[in-house]
Amino acid sequence: MKTNLLGLDAAGLAAYFQTLGEKPFRARQVLQWVHQRRESDFARMSELAKDLRAKLAQGAVVAAPQVVGDHVAEDGTRKWLLKVDGANAVDAVFIPETSRGTLCVSSQAGCTLDCAFCSTGKQGFSRNLTTAEIVGQLWLANRLLGGERPVTNVVLMGMGEPLLNLDNVIPALRLMLDDNAYGLSRRRVTVSTSGVIPGIDRLRDECPVALAVSLHAPNDALRDRLVPVNRKYPIRELLAACRRYLEKAPRDFITFEYVMLEGVNDSDEQARGLAALAGRVSCKFNLIPFNPFPATEFRRSPPERIRRFAEILQRADVTVTTRKTRGDAIDAACGQLAGEVADRTRRARTLRVAELRS
Ligand code: SAH
Ligand code: SF4
Repeated sequence: MKTNLLGLDAAGLAAYFQTLGEKPFRARQVLQWVHQRRESDFARMSELAKDLRAKLAQGAVVAAPQVVGDHVAEDGTRKWLLKVDGANAVDAVFIPETSRGTLCVSSQAGCTLDCAFCSTGKQGFSRNLTTAEIVGQLWLANRLLGGERPVTNVVLMGMGEPLLNLDNVIPALRLMLDDNAYGLSRRRVTVSTSGVIPGIDRLRDECPVALAVSLHAPNDALRDRLVPVNRKYPIRELLAACRRYLEKAPRDFITFEYVMLEGVNDSDEQARGLAALAGRVSCKFNLIPFNPFPATEFRRSPPERIRRFAEILQRADVTVTTRKTRGDAIDAACGQLAGEVADRTRRARTLRVAELRS
């Protein structure tokens, strides 16, 4: 098996070059060729010695996932369906804005955590993505978009729970931050988690980047049902982990994501409950209008309800933004990915929305 260079961070590449009997600075050059010049053909890496190019051609490859779908929505949002093996595909979504271009990246094929309102959760879990498959999404996006630096921000908000795949996610993050690779600042790379506390602590110690936490409910009773991992890591402990994270984070706040589900978590009283939680850790709220998918029983809260909910938070001095729904026509919004991939497990839905509506 050839070594896929997309999966090696600076330390990994240096070690690989040592096994080839090559100098460390050569590894740096290759890093630049692969990630900055987006070159996959060793023969074209012109300033490398001929014998090194030959060695690389023999033992290594630069291989990204295969693009099997490419859709652009009217608003410019672009979604790729990427085949990672014979049975699995994941999505990556590019969201262009005036001053930045954000790529939403997947970290697993499927997800083990089964949040009630998430289409990825409904699919069940296949496997962790490798570092090469995670970085490959960014490498491909830059290559397909062209231009100087199309992707300025990365969010790990695609399929999967990144903090349950840190062995692969951390080297991928290091490449995103590496000046010889993508050179993104820590503030421009965001990991989103449903609240896996040991993962939050490990990320803090090994590679702190901006952190988003999917809160979705103001109390444990409701969160237990919407985000089942809450039964293991309840809100009080989650907030403590957030405070620990902030000691090392590149930003001085945690972003709390909150999906707006009509009649489930969008009442005035629930907004006041959230405002109380917000007082316990430095944070900002991002309200996400629910993105419906086939076979879901949830509905998106109406715009007027979302506006009122946001207002209650603002009055309590909580910073809140509401995510624009984008790329709806191509199912491209983050958290609503892989709509085209078959529901393999057909898990019984133990949760009935009617039970949740107050
Ligand atoms: N597993 C991580 C990251 C991937 S999901 C996490 O849960 O945070 C990224 C975000 O999309 C999360 O906040 C998630 O709760 C949200 N999301 C999932 N399904 C959604 C849907 N149908 N509509 C809107 N947001 C959704
Ligand atoms: Fe997994 Fe995140 Fe979906 Fe929950 S919301 S099932 S953690 S991908």
